[in-house]
Amino acid sequence: MNSIEANKCMIHFNASCYTALNQHLNSRNFSKIFILVDENTHEHCLPLFLENLETTSTIEIVEIESGEINKNIETCSGVWNTLSELDADRKSLLINIGGGVITDLGGFVACTFKRGIAYVNVPTTLLSMVDASVGGKTGVDLGHLKNQIGVISNPDLVLIDTQYLNTLPQNQMRSGLAEMLKHGLISDLNYWNKFQDLAKLSLNDLDALIYESVLIKKHVVEIDPFENGLRKSLNFGHTLGHAIESYFLSNPNKTTLLHGEAIVIGMILASYISTELTGFPKQTTLDIKRLFVDYYGKVTINQEDLQPIIELLKFDKKNTHGNINFVLLESIGNPKIDCLVDDAI
Ligand code: NAD
Repeated sequence: MNSIEANKCMIHFNASCYTALNQHLNSRNFSKIFILVDENTHEHCLPLFLENLETTSTIEIVEIESGEINKNIETCSGVWNTLSELDADRKSLLINIGGGVITDLGGFVACTFKRGIAYVNVPTTLLSMVDASVGGKTGVDLGHLKNQIGVISNPDLVLIDTQYLNTLPQNQMRSGLAEMLKHGLISDLNYWNKFQDLAKLSLNDLDALIYESVLIKKHVVEIDPFENGLRKSLNFGHTLGHAIESYFLSNPNKTTLLHGEAIVIGMILASYISTELTGFPKQTTLDIKRLFVDYYGKVTINQEDLQPIIELLKFDKKNTHGNINFVLLESIGNPKIDCLVDDAI
């Protein structure tokens, strides 16, 4: 698979990842290399990564606890302190090996430590391969509010080695698939159609689909790196999805929803709203709902949950001037951004 360039950041795939990384390390002469992992990527991904790394620089492993609950400024403080204690300087490199929590948080730590050090993303979940590690969005949550603090700044390299997926739990695979389905819905009917039999998708099919998803994301973030227009379409399903994710995260009586699971609910709801407001065909909304419900199952949201979820919508980052902006669809592949939606709908 050919490497992809997105906003001057090179994205390499499978075997070519390590050649590119080793060349980069050789040419840049970093003073020290820090590798950020969580306990799962430490166990399952770091050994393969280290096997392929060729460097004489000192390597330090920094581990944080896994989970969205730890994607916060306190964890950043811990990592900043560790970097400082281990004498990281402006010529140090941070390599983030993990899912979206590690690449978002590690990217933010790197962009802010000593006003910015170089970093590399090695995404190890499906979601972080096709979405979180590409496009330069970094950041952390503020309390239960998702991604409120952060900066947009690209890594030196993104290294997508799908071997890491061999140890990824099935529910995490399904969560990542949600963002790939989103890529189809917002930009490409042909790509969407490749997912019509989700239960039959195998790991072998995935490499090509991941590559296509990264190409879709590249296309969007290159046209609109700072989310003034087209990039907002990547938030399809995320307005209600994030509010539902935050609500479930903050409510001890609810099961924790994975990011992709919440986004699936948000995409069903955004399709329904599209049918109400843009003329998006009702049958297509029903087909989307059937596909998602068959594969992801149902999550119960009760009447008493609705008002707190609507309240959370006001923290959505796409909002401006007090209005809640939705991404809707006119047809599959044709998103409509900045749609104002009445609370009643
Ligand atoms: P995650 O980072 O929490 O990873 C999921 C779990 O899988 C964790 O327990 C992790 O330890 C484990 N894991 C990771 N790789 C593994 C492997 N190869 N084998 C076994 N276990 C492994 O979750 P995620 O779904 O990758 O990312 C979600 C985050 O991404 C959210 O915080 C979301 O806001 C963010 N995100 C960011 C962007 C962006 O553009 N920056 C886009 C989409 C999502």
